[in-house]
Amino acid sequence: MARYTGIIARYREWLPIADDARIVTLGEGDTPLIRLDRLTKTTGRDVTIYVKFEGLNPTGSFKDRGMCFAVTKAVEAGSQALICASTGNTSASAAAYAARAGLAAFVLIPEGKIALGKLSQAMIHGAVVVQIQGNFDAGMKLVKEIAATTPVTLVNSVNPYRLQGQKTAAFEVVDALGFAPNYHYLPVGNAGNITAHWFGYQDYARQGRCAMPKLVGFQAAGAAPFVSGKMVDDPETIATAIRIGHPQSWSLAQSAKEATGGWFGAIDDAEILVTQKLLAREEGIFCEPASAVSVAGALHDLRAGRIEDGATVVCTVTGHGLKDPDVAIRQGGPTELLTVTPTLSAVRAIILDRTG
Ligand SMILES: *Cc1c(COP(=O)(O)O)cnc(C)c1O
Repeated sequence: MARYTGIIARYREWLPIADDARIVTLGEGDTPLIRLDRLTKTTGRDVTIYVKFEGLNPTGSFKDRGMCFAVTKAVEAGSQALICASTGNTSASAAAYAARAGLAAFVLIPEGKIALGKLSQAMIHGAVVVQIQGNFDAGMKLVKEIAATTPVTLVNSVNPYRLQGQKTAAFEVVDALGFAPNYHYLPVGNAGNITAHWFGYQDYARQGRCAMPKLVGFQAAGAAPFVSGKMVDDPETIATAIRIGHPQSWSLAQSAKEATGGWFGAIDDAEILVTQKLLAREEGIFCEPASAVSVAGALHDLRAGRIEDGATVVCTVTGHGLKDPDVAIRQGGPTELLTVTPTLSAVRAIILDRTG
């Protein structure tokens, strides 16, 4: 079998790219589709739930699919520098792909509201990291203005190549299952990714490769403009990746929902954390808080009877848990980190205590 070399090589015929283009790849995509056996059993329902674990992309989130294509197109256009606003993962991905391409990267992040792992990525890859004393939405407004007046390429998901790259995740789901799921759940922030999945499923459906799944978007309760139907000026949630009140792909995501018969919902922070822990402890899948929202949404809708027996459900798990070690350690709780003298009796006592 040929060495896997990323989403452009694999799905070239579905992407607008010249034959002689220089491809900037880190081997993104080809992420596992993991069936949730233990968790599904607890629902008592006859459904099949899969996680598309996008945390296993090169920089730990699905953003790499879009960044691979956006940076490849930026190089093709002769760009020298990239810019983005980010809640963290876009900056990590932009920094890595810029390094790979030999471009400069400028990233605007909300001061104090970015998970530590993501900040470390942007810094080690050599991006110029600018903290702004404002939230993501304020940063987004700024970078759009800068990109309109300065020779830098904007690589937020308003860059259409980002969504083209990200649609390959839908292709992978259909290629892995042999069909489309009945429901595809995604965490929603800017709503670029749910839109990208809609594009991908549409491409395949037009060629008769699959039917359209219902696209279901879930947000954090404190940052849920798609649920309230209006923009949120002060979004707040522990799920920093989706701490967004003014989604950039507003109308496209509304269309994706309506055209596929899907819906939007919201999960509060307490349930986000419960689901993150559940995935880690019942299934061995460690994701960041925002990523647990899709699975929380599916479990919520299963309990509410919104999903019929026999259905196949795919939940996109967007980013790796190592991105946000602070939240993960707090989830464990101080009582679970035990300290003892280095003696056989002390360690044995713990094991006997825990194995009953
Ligand atoms: C970017 C991101 C999201 C939100 O995706 P949108 O395309 O902005 O809706 C969700 N989870 C994680 C981990 C992300 O990095």
